Amino acid sequence: MINLRIPGPTPLPPDVQMAVGQQMINHRGAEFGALLAETTAWLKVFFETQQEVLVLTSSGTGAMEASVANTLSPGDRVLAISCGSFGDRFDEIARAYRADVTSLKFAPGRAVDPAVVREAVETQGPFKAAVLTHNETSTGVLNDVQAIAASIRSASPETLIMVDSISGLGGTRLQMDAWDVDVVLTGSQKAWMAPPGLAMIALSNRAWRTYETAQNPRYYFDLGLARQYAARHQTPSTPAVSTLYGLHASLQRMVAEGIEAVAARHEALASHCRACALTLGLGLYAEAGHYSPTVTALTLPAAHKPSDVLNALAERYAIHCGSTKDPSVGVIRIGHMGYCSIADLDAVFVALGEILSSTP
Ligand SMILES: *Cc1c(COP(=O)(O)O)cnc(C)c1O
Repeated sequence: MINLRIPGPTPLPPDVQMAVGQQMINHRGAEFGALLAETTAWLKVFFETQQEVLVLTSSGTGAMEASVANTLSPGDRVLAISCGSFGDRFDEIARAYRADVTSLKFAPGRAVDPAVVREAVETQGPFKAAVLTHNETSTGVLNDVQAIAASIRSASPETLIMVDSISGLGGTRLQMDAWDVDVVLTGSQKAWMAPPGLAMIALSNRAWRTYETAQNPRYYFDLGLARQYAARHQTPSTPAVSTLYGLHASLQRMVAEGIEAVAARHEALASHCRACALTLGLGLYAEAGHYSPTVTALTLPAAHKPSDVLNALAERYAIHCGSTKDPSVGVIRIGHMGYCSIADLDAVFVALGEILSSTP
């Protein structure tokens, strides 16, 4: 059996796998309506919002694009806050939609500093929107969205705060309403333990007001249309029904476990992962105090090439961990979101210990 420890897609629990294999149903019929209604009700629990959570058929990036297409107009000033490649992606999407983007970049491995964000908003604002990443999967950094949102809000009350929590939500908490965040989005194949294919997104009242006047083109990802259909438990076009079966089954598990227990389980896995890494003499790439609960980035000894280590893990042990875009940094990433056990992580470190102790 493969030990799939990439940061998404993540393994499916057996009941989710079973659910995914169910026969097709009429996506305009009552059975589908009930499935979508229950799924979105459960999603609201994890988004910690009273807003409707919309389910889009796309990978997570589709929801990032939807957030920009539905709230911005060409020329709108956007602060793109990034501490890694997924933060950069949000920046690029805003530019693709002709926003006037100010990039605020933090060094890889560092977390976004709310004080620096506040200064940028005060000295370079006003911004129509700020886009940022909750959990930067590329570096294993968890950003303090609550503090960042508060610093943006205090300097500029009406700026839209749009958060990519694709690899955060479902593994760690993001209190959309309490933290006054305007757009939160995520993807089915990360901590949600479902197959790829669905993105989930919620908008605040402030964001919905902006939707009314936003001039960017939108069609497939028209969230106003998605909201109209959601009111009668449908989607505008054909949804990824099988993925929805899976997401429904995984949410059933997650709701039974409880949001606090789910977050605590991820914290425990992450801290076990870090302890194992330190025991092997490996470094942690992320800034201390900002370790991700869903993915850990490890620095390898200089003598070991990440690609060789990843190949050895895959070929000799059937363990698949994540690479990084820049091979020069000597980092591998271990995903521990969703369906992952302490034993799964222990197997990774037994294998890593053997690989690293053999001469490179
Ligand atoms: C995985 C990921 C994405 C990209 O999601 P896709 O589903 O591959 O489109 C974007 N942002 C973050 C933080 C991610 O972890």
